[in-house]
This record gives sequence, structure tokens and C-alpha cells, in this order.
Amino acid sequence: MVSRVIPVDPFDLVIFGGTGDLARRKILPGLFRRYCAGQIEGDVRITGAARGEMDTQGYRDFAAEAIMASDQSAGTKKAHLDEFLAMLHYVVVDAMGDDGWEELARITRSDRIRAFYFSVAPRLFGPLAERLHQHGLADGQTRIVVEKPFGRDLKTARELNRVLAEHFDESQIYRIDHYLGKETVQNLMAIRFGNMLFEPLWNSQYVDHIQITVAEAVGVGGRGDYYDRAGAMRDMMQNHLMQLLCLIAMEPPAKFNPDSVRDEKLKVIRALDPVAPDDVVRGQYEGSGGRPSYRNQVGNRDSTTESFVALRARVSNWRWAGTPFYLRTGKRLKERASEIAVVFKDAPHSIFGEEAGRHRNILTIKLQPNEGIELGVTIKEPGPGGMRLVDVPLDMTFAEALGPEEADFPDAYERLIMDVIRGNQTLFMRGDEVEEAWAWADEVIAGWEKRGDDPLPYATGSAGPDDALMLMHRDGRRWREIKA
Ligand code: NAD
Repeated sequence: MVSRVIPVDPFDLVIFGGTGDLARRKILPGLFRRYCAGQIEGDVRITGAARGEMDTQGYRDFAAEAIMASDQSAGTKKAHLDEFLAMLHYVVVDAMGDDGWEELARITRSDRIRAFYFSVAPRLFGPLAERLHQHGLADGQTRIVVEKPFGRDLKTARELNRVLAEHFDESQIYRIDHYLGKETVQNLMAIRFGNMLFEPLWNSQYVDHIQITVAEAVGVGGRGDYYDRAGAMRDMMQNHLMQLLCLIAMEPPAKFNPDSVRDEKLKVIRALDPVAPDDVVRGQYEGSGGRPSYRNQVGNRDSTTESFVALRARVSNWRWAGTPFYLRTGKRLKERASEIAVVFKDAPHSIFGEEAGRHRNILTIKLQPNEGIELGVTIKEPGPGGMRLVDVPLDMTFAEALGPEEADFPDAYERLIMDVIRGNQTLFMRGDEVEEAWAWADEVIAGWEKRGDDPLPYATGSAGPDDALMLMHRDGRRWREIKA
């Protein structure tokens, strides 16, 4: 099966922070891949806009290097690469001052879709919106793409929403959560709402519990300064894990359109119970084998910021009352592995007796490092040894059925940027969703701040502090192994 690529309309895209890490690793290579796929064509202009002194040729060289570093085969697509680089321009712009804005206004055309990607530090989001307006770059056709973090609590998120709303309508604001751009996350919606098979079972009557794990093997690296002010709850739980929880728990929207989907997600967040203090475990990694501890890495001996958080959440509505959601995320864990596991209840009566053992269906949505969906089913162990049961995975990645081309998923950023150009906000967070998620997270954070709890130490390469294991053990359940 050959994938259908529908080219987007010609556009002008300005990447504020076009020389930064995200532009280098994700945005520019992603745009190049879409160009190679035939999705970007015609008179398109992509402008890097940042503070660093550079000219357009310098930016093209920078982009060529970034693309080659991310895609070993880019060198073999020389003709494509040259054509793509010819679309690139560079303007020195100061988000906080007046430099470069006239030039930017001059080269950004108003007779087409204009998108401005805010790939800069969050303190610059407001000033950028303001200056786009001042320089006549914000009209009805304009879209802005806002990176994470979107605020650090409800108050700051509200303020940011307010500033953006002064110059842009909600329909023009694309708040990125790149987890939503993952192929498998969208496939989760296709599996739930495109089949009859799962939805009737998708409730507390049949689902024992749900686990969401986003585990990283790396530490905070060079982001220590930012991270120590944020922590795992703000950096990952409030946004990425919350979004995944919403997609799992939401009611079927009447239509697959941005507001129907986002209305349903919002209802899930609103249905979340406050998290009880006993239902949250925070951790901080220790050093090992020459790898520094969290506190050493962030250069703060007394830091009480968590690099790991696990919690039990409850969605109080008819569908989910009684089914807990266990969420955990952290750094320096055993492996880089992210998945959602929907663990179904035991069959009500085992006709095969005790010796057949306990078997459960588990639907696993794997997000990292490889995307895929797997359904664990119980079958008879082959052979003449009587009725012994065994669990086998029904692999639903469909790589074989769809062909290798289809299995070569576009990176989340590629898809999301194309959605911005297409004007489709379904996979972007709406302002009220973000605020509601902060209201929930703020309460959890206020709880541990008030108690003065310190995060528990955990070993590098482990599954987090033992108390996180206890969070499930006490309910007679177990976390799934963290494995890629
Ligand atoms: P970075 O520090 O590598 O790059 C920052 C960019 O902003 C540079 O191009 C710099 O020239 C430009 N800049 C700084 N001050 C400016 C000013 N006054 N006017 C104009 N340009 C200015 O940052 P990054 O890692 O690329 O991150 C960019 C944004 O993306 C941040 O909001 C970050 O939180 C978010 N983000 C980054 C990653 C990642 O993997 N790097 C992942 C998720 C989200």
C-alpha cells in the first residue's frame, strides 16, 4: 500500500529560535522529510529568525548540517536537499527589541498562510505575539505555534493565554504537545473509535486499571537550570501524561474535529479527583558509575525537585469510577521506554482450573522508542501437554499489512507542523485544557509543598523509588517492566 501524501498549500513559515536545539534536531529535519515526501511544494518560504548574527547562506549551511546529522541518507538526496535549502532564509530578529522586524515584515508574504513558530524560551512568547501585532504580521491568516512549557502553574498559564488572546483568536493558536503528534497516539483513537471490538469493553466493568509510563534513561543533561525549577510533575505529567490519559479516558467525540475532541478531553480533566497525598511518590536519582546524581547535575545540593513522579489518579465519572490510572515518569530509569497499558479484568470464571494460571488481556500502546500497538491474548500452549494456557501478543503495528513505507512513521513534529499549515487544531491543546490541567497539577504540587516532603532517592537504572512500586502493590497490582 502506498501512502497518500496530499500537498499542503504554499505557506510562509517563520521559525523564531531557528538556530536553537529544537529547530536543529526536529523542525528543520522534519520539514525536509515532508519536502522529500512531496507534501511541501510550490512557492514556500521558511525563515529562520533568531538573535545570532548569520546570513541566509549561513543558515542554509546550518540547516544542511542539521538535516544530515538527523538523516544519514540526506546526502543521497542531494537534488532534494538543494531545492529545500533554496526555500530557507534568515533574519536577525530580537524578540525583546526592534531589530529585524521590518525586514521580517518585508519578506513574509501576506497573500498566503503565515505561520510563526515560537521555538524560543517561554519568556519570549508574549513579546513575540506583541511584536507580530505591532508590525502588522498578525492577521486572520496568521497562525502561531507555541512550544512547551506553557506556563509553570495555573496563574502563569492564564496570563500567557491572556497575552496571546490580545492579538490572536484561539483558532490561530497551536499549543504543541508533541506526544499528540505520535502516529500511535492517533492510532489509539482509530482503534477505539473505528472498531466495534474495544469500545464496549472500555470501562470500569472490564478494565482493571490503566498504566501510563514515560521513562527516560538519560538525566537532566544540559537542561539542569530549567529542570530544577520545573521537575517531573511540571515538565512531563501536567502535559504529556495528562494528554495520554485524556485520550484513553475520553468519551467518543461526535466528530473527529478539533473542538469535539478537545471538549471530550477537557471533560476528563474536569472529572479527575484531587490526588490524595498517599497516592503520590516523588523521587530524585542518585549518582552511579561516574554519572552524577541529580543534585550534582543541577548544581543545587539542597534541591527538592523531583526527577521522578508516580501517582494514582481517578477519573470520577460513570465510565471510569473504580478503575485507577497509574501514571509514572522519570529520568535515569532503566530504559527509555514509554507505553500505555490497558489491563483488562480476569475472566469471571476459569474453566481451566488453577493450574492454567492467571491470564489477562493487556492492550499495550507503545510510544517510545518504537511505536506500536500490541494486544495480549491467552491461547492454549501448543503440544500434547493438556490444556495449559499461555499469553501471546497480537501485534497490531501492521508493518507487514501496510508495507515498510507505512511503518516508517513521520516524526511527531513533521505531522504537527503540517497540521498547522492545514489549519487542523485537533492534535493541539486548547487554552482551557491547559489551564484545567494546571489546576489539577497545582493542587498536587501544593500538597507536597505544604507537607514539606522531600523526594526519595532512587538508583540510576532502576524503576524509581521502592515506594512507587508500593503504590501498586498495596492495590494488589504491579507495574509493568520498563523495557524498550
Ligand atoms: P535553544 O536555547 O537551543 O535556542 C533558543 C533560540 O532562541 C536560539 O535560536 C536563539 O538565538 C533564540 N533567541 C534567544 N533569545 C532571543 C531573542 N531575544 N530574540 C530572538 N531569538 C532569540 O532552545 P531550544 O532547546 O531550541 O528550545 C526552544 C523552545 O522549545 C523552548 O521553549 C523549549 O522549552 C522548547 N522545547 C525544546 C525541546 C528540545 O528538545 N530542545 C523539546 C521540547 C520543547
